[in-house]
Order: sequence, then structure tokens, then C-alpha cells
Amino acid sequence: MAPLIHIKQQQTRSPSCQLQIIIVGAGLAGLGAAISCALAGHLVHVLEGATEIKEVGAGIQVLPNSSRVLQHWGLEKALTPYMTYPRVCNFIGWKGNKISHLDFHESESKYPGTWYRDFHRADLQRCLVERATELGVQITCNARIRTVRVSEDGTIATAVAADGREWDGDLVIGADGVFGKLTEELLGRSDPPVKTGDLAYRLLLSTEEMKKDPELADFVNTPQVNYWLGPDAHAVNYVLRGGDLFNMVLLVPDDIPEAQASTIEGSVEEMCALFEGWDPRIQKLLKLCQSVQKWRLCIRFGEFDWAHESGSWVMLGDAVHATLPYLASGAGMAFEDGAVLGECLSRLPNHPNFSKSSPEFVNAKKHALSVFQHCRKVRTKMVVERGNIQQYLYHLHDGPEQEERDRKMQMVPTPEGE
Ligand code: FAD
Repeated sequence: MAPLIHIKQQQTRSPSCQLQIIIVGAGLAGLGAAISCALAGHLVHVLEGATEIKEVGAGIQVLPNSSRVLQHWGLEKALTPYMTYPRVCNFIGWKGNKISHLDFHESESKYPGTWYRDFHRADLQRCLVERATELGVQITCNARIRTVRVSEDGTIATAVAADGREWDGDLVIGADGVFGKLTEELLGRSDPPVKTGDLAYRLLLSTEEMKKDPELADFVNTPQVNYWLGPDAHAVNYVLRGGDLFNMVLLVPDDIPEAQASTIEGSVEEMCALFEGWDPRIQKLLKLCQSVQKWRLCIRFGEFDWAHESGSWVMLGDAVHATLPYLASGAGMAFEDGAVLGECLSRLPNHPNFSKSSPEFVNAKKHALSVFQHCRKVRTKMVVERGNIQQYLYHLHDGPEQEERDRKMQMVPTPEGE
């Protein structure tokens, strides 16, 4: 069957108009930007600080806005074996009472191409790496970038690694994540990530034991996303890899000591204590857990420029707009960033008579980056702010405000008109 979303074909560019783009960071933002810029006909080299691209994190929900981007980049076939299609999203009170639900059974036939899919982050990242490589993107690991140097005329940006190696480009894209140092280094100002007061326990469970318990088996047999909302905390879960794995995230007040790293070991006992008195199914699930890590949740957003006036570097992804994960949209925003940047760079002059160092081309590049920045700042600011509001709404204590929230959630129409 023909794909519902048009797959973007790789643009052919005159070599004189082909940018050499260096991307710092092979996370979801960096890889998405790499695919999009390669599709726009440019030469792309991704530099990753880690020694290899390995499994980090757990589940990722990809919502319809960003799943369209992935399809447009030609990833549908590669992703299909790894994705789970949740049929419903349930909102549940902390003691187990159902608040409301969103039914996804019919949404895709009504709005073709709009998947809502759940992935293991490692599967998603691997498919992005494969697609990028197919498009000619070069990826180098063990390249920790310390700074970016811009030539006097502003046309060359050089990524300088901590070990002294250097890579020259016509454009450097910084995608080094929420704790990355490039934003501070390049903008010459200190904008550290802001603690949100929450942390996330991220658990991955095998579904073997769950399937034996009738109270838990339905979570596996009917793919679904569940949100339990309670005082100062909430829990989210869904299956991954066609039902082999179960992803659970607990969002609770941050108790990681100031001096410690932002990710540390957690324990089953402390999770059980935090969720005492909640829906008994949560306790059952937590007792199936062997080991867990907890991650401090920080956000990052400021009114600073994401692009340098020379047009030689630009930032995207969590490095400039990290949000609380309460709208499941951080990676989605990163994919949208990549799509918009690639689109802007596909409009650069493309003719053998043009040289990429000519004033016309350099001005067009600056303009492309300013359009990118303008479009993406407005959108991502809204998502970061909305994530903060969600923190307040999801963590309400029982009382009139919580009752009002639940009433409003019940007003969202469902396809069956329940
Ligand atoms: P990162 O993934 O942090 O990647 C940055 C990369 O840069 C890393 O590979 C790092 O090693 C590399 N790097 C850093 N410094 C350097 C350097 N100096 N030189 C070279 N390389 C460097 N989003 C969703 O859309 N849906 C969800 O369901 C969802 N759930 C989430 C649940 C939790 C608990 C959390 C914490 C986040 C969730 N997110 C979700 C958000 C999503 O994971 C992030 O927004 C996204 O992964 C950010 O990608 P990034 O590439 O910008 O940053």
C-alpha cells in the first residue's frame, strides 16, 4: 500500500551550494536534523561525545504531529516492526477511579497518517541512525566538542574537540541536550538548566509475570497508555515492542541531593513508599521491578538567540527548549525542529553560478536560520510553558480544584459519544 504521507526525496544540489554541516550530538534532535539536512541536499557529519550510540532512556511516545515528520523522512517501513499502537489513553485518579479516556481507534481513519505510537528509545534512535547513514550522513563517536570557533569573515565554523581534533563546516548545529555546554559556550552567557522540583523513575518490566495476573494482564493485552494523577505525583505506563516490555514512569518530588549527579540509582522500597495508598495495581507493578534509576527533571528555555548573527551556527532540541515530559513532546519538538531547519536550508540558492561564500548565499543562509528560529521559538515556548501548567494540574491534591480538573477532562468528547 502506498504510504499516506508523502516521502521527501533527497534534493540534488550543485556542489558549490552544498553546505558542509557539522552536528554536535547524536540524540534524537541531532539525528533528526541530520536526516532533514541530508534530504535538503547538504553534506552532514554528526559528532557524538559518547564512545558509542547506546541504549539510554526507555519509552518514548510519538504523537501525531511528530509521527508525520518521521513518515515524511521515509522511516515508516523501518519503524513499523518496533512500534506499538495504543488504542486508548486512560486518565485515572490515584486511588484507581477512572476520570476519562481518549479513544484512538478511529482517529487514524479520520486523520490519515496521524499515528500515535510508542517506542523504545533505542529502537527509534537506531532507525534514525540507519536512515541518516543511508542518506550519506557520517557519524563519529568519541568526539566530545569543547567549543565552536567562527572564522573572522563568519563563513567557517570549526567544532573543536576536548582532545584537540577539529572539524570545519559552513554551519554547526548544536544538539547537545539539556545538560549540554554549547549554549553557554557559544552564547557567552550562563543559562544552566532549571530544576523543576520533580524527578522521574523510569522502569522497564518484562511482561511475562504481568500476563499471569488478571489485574495486570489487560495492560499488555490491550495496548493502552495510562496516567494516574495524584497529590504531588503521577504515574504513566504503556507496553513496548509489541507487548514484550512494559514501560512505567513515576513523576515525583525531586529528592536527589544537590551535590549528586542528575541521574542516580533508585530503589523499589522508596518507590513503593511514595505510592502507598495509590491504586493497588501500581504497587503490584512496582514489586516486579528489579532495579531502577531516577532522573532529575530540568527545563531550559530563555529569550536568547538560538542562531549566531554570522549564520555559522544554530542550536536546537533540548539544548534550547527542554521541557517537562508531561506532554510527551520533547522528542517531538526536536523532530519538528529538524524538519523546519531542513526545509529552510532546502530553499538556499542552488545553481552552479552561486558560491556558498558569496554574500548572496551567506545572506540567504542567515535569513534561513532566522526564519527557523522565529518559527520554532514561538512553538517550543508554548510547549515548555504548557508542560509547567501540566505539572500543576497533574499533581493537584484532592479538593475543589482537582474536582474541577476531572470535570473538565470528562468534557473531552470521545468518538462513541460516551
Ligand atoms: P539528548 O537526547 O540529551 O541528546 C544529546 C546528545 O548530545 C547525547 O547523545 C550526548 O551524548 C551528546 N553530547 C552532549 N554534549 C556533547 C558534546 N560536548 N560533544 C558531542 N556530543 C555531545 N519526548 C517525547 O517526545 N515523548 C515522550 O514520551 C517523552 N518521554 C520522556 C520521558 C522522560 C522521563 C524524559 C526525561 C524525557 C522524555 N521525553 C519525551 C523527552 C525526550 O527524551 C527529549 O526531549 C529528547 O530525547 C531530547 O533529545 P536531544 O537530542 O535534544 O537531547
